[in-house]
Amino acid sequence: MNRNHDLGNHEAELAEALRTCAAEPVHIPGAIQPSGGLISFDVGLTMVRQVSANLETLLGIPAELALRCSPAALLGSDLLERITRELDERHEVPGALTAYLGPDTQGFHVISYRSGSRVVVELEPLRDDDESQLLSVLNRWLATVREPATPDQLLEWLVEEVRNLTGFDRVLIYRFDERWNGSVTAESCGDGIGGFLGHYFPASDIPPQVRALYDRNCLRSIPDAVAAAVPLLPECDPVDATPLDLSPGVLRAVSPIHLEYLANMGVASALSVALHDENEERLGGLLSCHALATPHRLSPGMRDTVQALVQITVPQLRLLRTRSENQLIQKVQVSRELLHQSHERWIDPELIVEQRGEEWLDLFAADGMALIHRTRQGMRGSVPDSQSLESIVTWLSALCEAPTVWYSHSLKETPLAAWRGPSSGLLAVPLPIDTAEPSWLLLFRNEEIETRRWAGLPQKHIASRGEHSVLAPRHSFAEWQERIRDHCRIWRRSERRAASDLAENLAALIASHEIHLLNARLHEVNERLKRLALQDSLTGVWNRYHMEQAIETEIAAATRYGRDCALLLLDVDHFKAVNDDHGHESGDKVLITLVTRMDTMLREADRLGRWGGEEFVVLATGTTARGAEELAERLRHEVAESHFEEVGRVTVSIGVAACRADDTVKTLVKRADQAMYRAKTLGRNRVYGAD
Ligand code: GH3
Ligand code: MG
Ligand code: MG
Repeated sequence: MNRNHDLGNHEAELAEALRTCAAEPVHIPGAIQPSGGLISFDVGLTMVRQVSANLETLLGIPAELALRCSPAALLGSDLLERITRELDERHEVPGALTAYLGPDTQGFHVISYRSGSRVVVELEPLRDDDESQLLSVLNRWLATVREPATPDQLLEWLVEEVRNLTGFDRVLIYRFDERWNGSVTAESCGDGIGGFLGHYFPASDIPPQVRALYDRNCLRSIPDAVAAAVPLLPECDPVDATPLDLSPGVLRAVSPIHLEYLANMGVASALSVALHDENEERLGGLLSCHALATPHRLSPGMRDTVQALVQITVPQLRLLRTRSENQLIQKVQVSRELLHQSHERWIDPELIVEQRGEEWLDLFAADGMALIHRTRQGMRGSVPDSQSLESIVTWLSALCEAPTVWYSHSLKETPLAAWRGPSSGLLAVPLPIDTAEPSWLLLFRNEEIETRRWAGLPQKHIASRGEHSVLAPRHSFAEWQERIRDHCRIWRRSERRAASDLAENLAALIASHEIHLLNARLHEVNERLKRLALQDSLTGVWNRYHMEQAIETEIAAATRYGRDCALLLLDVDHFKAVNDDHGHESGDKVLITLVTRMDTMLREADRLGRWGGEEFVVLATGTTARGAEELAERLRHEVAESHFEEVGRVTVSIGVAACRADDTVKTLVKRADQAMYRAKTLGRNRVYGAD
């Protein structure tokens, strides 16, 4: 057998062992721990179904006999009635009851719950524990819990408080990561007791079905990790074939694998309380207490107090976590506001990243960032090259129909590996602008080599049990170091949220900038259209339409205010011949030159327009007939004296008409036209004033 084959075999065996371990029905062990006794009844509490084999030591009634007793004979009618009343419509009796039972009227801590077609009663003998201080411990913790400033500090205080209260040798906080590996993040140890602070534990140490139990019952108590379990009698329920589910109770017997695990770790008693993350949705971690060397039995009241301490702590823990998350979100918010205020100045992704990139790298603890919009890329810091960025964005955009936030802590293990460049991690947030061609905000992180301290070799040992491969717990929990490569620091939930917020602003900014650009272009087009509507395209002076409007306005003003105004109508003499002799283009140039010449002679208030062909009008405001004729003469003279390129001399004939009180555009133009015609017939190159 070669080595590869060996390895393959090992992996297959490990996979089978993990499956076997995950399938172990830990909630129905058919036995309890010896620290108490158990009786199961039918739903109506009229008949005893199963009892724990140790019942005689607790109630003085042998198990065989107890199975034939009436429920009232075992529990007394008072307790029976209370349980019946309290269980009405409930799954379990809320809180424990105290009852005095048996020939010695021994005090018992009684919990009761429904389990399928049965009602289970668990009895734990009460001892003379002094529990008078417990309430004041809780009261004090209610006040103290608000003092720590950070989640870490709060957990440190909690483990200290719990160890002081309970006298356990070691109390620790065990937190799960995303893959359910555990790490010890806070710990309190007695003198000379070794600890696990900062150590990692593999996910398989607490298999899925055990984690699920913590969702149903947040407390797990193992007062004596070496005591033999007490079986239930009879082994199977005489009426109901299904095994008895002991999930809600405290006495449930412990899985042999877990007992072996505790023994290898040197733990004699253990108590764990679940710490649930936001919305109670996910088991976030455990508070775990260990006694070494000798078992350390807590009274039920003390046990409840530890649970209450944790329950008081969890909301405060969430508050502190939210507060620290909000600090980041707030900082990003400030950056977003600044971004919003100065958006006029920024034109594209390159500029945005140039202006704000450094600040964002700092806020998100990123080593590089890229803002990608269509073909534009703004980059900062340590990022893959431009072509790789393009490939990354293409891949991200094809990932799903609506682009969503995507992140990785180890790009090497993703399809983006080939394009990751200097980066180990990526947080990619789509900018909600155009889903057909998504834009992206990409934050990159470089590798952060981490040395993970495992509590013992994380590789599992495999043993054979019958035909199956099963997990054998580690024998050594001695520190073992592993270097984790090609990973970046984790993208925290708050960082992912803040990046999404930022992306929203960037999208708005880019979209508004695009709208701004479109508007500018639209404005330009409109202006051109307007000019085209009012201007003569060859010479640039007002066209006939615009001129008619101006004449109409001026006639109205002249009539209202008794102001003078006059109209000059010019026609180029023998222009047809100019075209014929020199070509149409030269003719055009003549018209342009003519306008330039005349324009220099006019006052600001006078208006020059092209009437059509080689005819022009001048609207002379505040001018009498005489003044207008003088102006016409000056214009005629200027033209006649000018040299026209390619053509030489050009002359004009000008008709002048002064505005009358009853004039309209039509009548005024008509008189000017007639006068111009007169000038033509009189020999051209002259001015003629209408009567
Ligand atoms: P007169 O006014 O002195 O009686 O003679 P004319 O040759 O100027 O008269 P007519 O109205 O017969 O000819 C006007 C010519 O002007 C005809 C046309 O080809 C020319 N014309 C009209 N508009 C333009 C133009 O925009 N560019 C050029 N090159 N020629 C034009
Ligand atoms: Mg003409
Ligand atoms: Mg003419």
